[in-house]
Amino acid sequence: MDGVFITPTLYTRVYDSNGNVVMEAQQERRRVMSEAAAYVLTDVLIETGRTGTARNVSLAGIPVASKTGTTDNAHDRWFVAFTPYFTGAVWYGFEMPENVGFAPNPASVIWQGVMRRVHDGFAPRSFTRPDGVVFATVCMNSGSLASARCSNTRTEMFVRGTVPANSCDGIHAGAIATQAPSIVLNGSSNIVLNVGEQYVELRSNGYRFS
Ligand SMILES: [Zn+2]
Repeated sequence: MDGVFITPTLYTRVYDSNGNVVMEAQQERRRVMSEAAAYVLTDVLIETGRTGTARNVSLAGIPVASKTGTTDNAHDRWFVAFTPYFTGAVWYGFEMPENVGFAPNPASVIWQGVMRRVHDGFAPRSFTRPDGVVFATVCMNSGSLASARCSNTRTEMFVRGTVPANSCDGIHAGAIATQAPSIVLNGSSNIVLNVGEQYVELRSNGYRFS
C-alpha cells in the first residue's frame, strides 16, 4: 500500500457492554503517488537518516526512513520515521517554549529507545521494491548520465521514465574551475584560466605572450 494516504484515526472500533459495535472508524484511502515514487522517496529518507542530523538512529537489520523537524529558536524538535513494520512520530519540547536545540536530536533518541523495543523479535527485512524502479549511473558534476569522461559517478535509483536523457559531455565546469591554474604576470592580479581557455597578452615591446 505504499503511496496510499490513509486517514489517521485514534481507534478502529468501539463496542458496548453487550459486544455491539457502536462506533467504527471510517478511513479514507486514496493513492497520492505511485508505488515506485514512494519507494524512491523512502530510499531518500533512509539516506538522509544515515547522513543527516539524526544519524544516531538505527535498528538491527531493519531500515529506518526518517525526517527531523525544528521550529524557530529550536523550541520544538520532531522526529518522524517509519520502518517496513511500524511508523512513529516524536515531538520534544516544553509547554512554555524553551530552546531544546541539543544534539543528538532528543526526539530521535526517544524514537530509537521506544522503537528498538517495539521491533524486538521482528526479523530483519527491507522495503519491497516495486516494479517501475530502475537504476542508472549519473555524473555527480553534471547530473547527466555518466560517460567515459566522467570520474565522479554514482548509481542512483529512478522512477522508470525519469532517468536523465542526456549523457554528460565531460565538461565539468565546477570541478575544473577549482583546479585551473592561476598565473601572475608583471605583478598584476591573478588571472584564472579554465581548461580550454587561452590567455593572450601583447607586450609593449611587441612580444606576444600566451
Ligand atoms: Zn560528467
